[in-house]
Amino acid sequence: MDKADIIIAGGGASGLSLACRVAESIELKDKNIIIIDKDSKSTNDRTWCFWEKGESYFESIIFHKWQNLRMDGDGELLTRNIKPYSYKMLRAQDFYKFAKDRLKDKKNIKWVHADITKIYTENEVAHVVTNEGEYTGAWCFSSIPHQKIDKHNNLYLDQHFKGWFIRTMKPTFNSEEAHFMDFRTPQKGETRFLYVLPYNENEALVEIAIFSRTHLLENQYQSIIEVYLENHWNLKREDYVVNHEEYGNIPMTDASFKEVDGRTIFIGMVGGDTRSSTGFTFINIQRRVEKIVKALETGGNPGETLRFNRFHWYDKVLLRVLEEKTYSGEKLFIRLFKKNPIQRILAFLQGESRILMEIKVMQTAPLKEFISSAMRVLIQSKIGRKD
Ligand SMILES: Cc1cc2nc3c(=O)[nH]c(=O)nc-3n(C[C@H](O)[C@H](O)[C@H](O)COP(=O)(O)OP(=O)(O)OC[C@H]3O[C@@H](n4cnc5c(N)ncnc54)[C@H](O)[C@@H]3O)c2cc1C
Repeated sequence: MDKADIIIAGGGASGLSLACRVAESIELKDKNIIIIDKDSKSTNDRTWCFWEKGESYFESIIFHKWQNLRMDGDGELLTRNIKPYSYKMLRAQDFYKFAKDRLKDKKNIKWVHADITKIYTENEVAHVVTNEGEYTGAWCFSSIPHQKIDKHNNLYLDQHFKGWFIRTMKPTFNSEEAHFMDFRTPQKGETRFLYVLPYNENEALVEIAIFSRTHLLENQYQSIIEVYLENHWNLKREDYVVNHEEYGNIPMTDASFKEVDGRTIFIGMVGGDTRSSTGFTFINIQRRVEKIVKALETGGNPGETLRFNRFHWYDKVLLRVLEEKTYSGEKLFIRLFKKNPIQRILAFLQGESRILMEIKVMQTAPLKEFISSAMRVLIQSKIGRKD
């Protein structure tokens, strides 16, 4: 049995973000760490986009960034400069390499390529059982899926998406401007939008994202992208090649996530780091990981870093409107972006706005639907059921 101070179960976005920060910390640099993942983490299995002010911890590997965003929908075209924010794209393959490079020469870090089958706590020690043997640690930080979400008794939508990295034959894109939300696709009673993230004149990530509970067949996502490119970018299928594609699903829910189980602390998506109204997760992971490192450095409890705050409540209200379709997602997002300075909305969606800003955002939301949703969220919190 191998022993460590810290076991990181799952070396994906949250696990490796945590490992890098711990390895860099002067107070924690001698801690023995075991990182366990069943995957070698060398492919470009996803692309993270997020916005932030200033430089990122990952600035050296940011693939592209934009300060101009465009939104299309509900008959409106909005173009906005988001300074001091930048919208950034980070490719998973660059992230994994960055983390491996930072951690590779550390004698106190061990990598294990294995399938984790069980995690439990006994006598104040975390045990991680794998097909390659068992490991123990004072703490285990796990991003391994372990909990089934109760979709009946909680608000729940999937954000399912399919993206194509395309290369066009002729110069087509403006790499200075990202199409953040483009609703010009049939909504089919759901919230559907495309985003186009160009990184040069000929290449872009074009992705369809849908908020709903029912997924499409692969060829249906493709057909939405093809029709969109033809209608709005004048690109027929023979005008571009698809170099790479990604598919994913992000659960958007108000279900509560278990933060701690004995000596195991859940991080990342399974630790509740996803904003339930938007699906954005990456920035929350970074914030949470920083809090965990601080707690470890100061002898605090790293299991008390996911606190309920007012943004969870806003998310619930917004998610309920989207799930129950009391107001169309297209109209809602366009309305919020139209009636507010974009920096206010980005701060709000990122959970870094102040109360006064939030009141202003709420004043621009469709009042009847939001008040009704807020009342029902309140009632639900009292009786513990959705309806
Ligand atoms: C395609 C895609 C695109 C996304 N884009 C964005 C985005 O643009 N912006 C954003 O904010 N969020 C985005 N997300 C959401 C979120 O940021 C990512 O899912 C992120 O990777 C979550 O980090 P994590 O650490 O929770 O999980 P992961 O990064 O998935 O890490 C979990 C790790 O656990 C390992 N693992 C799982 N089971 C086992 C097992 N039994 N044994 C051993 N290892 C195991 C996996 O191999 C994986 O490496 C996206 C998600 C997907 C799927």
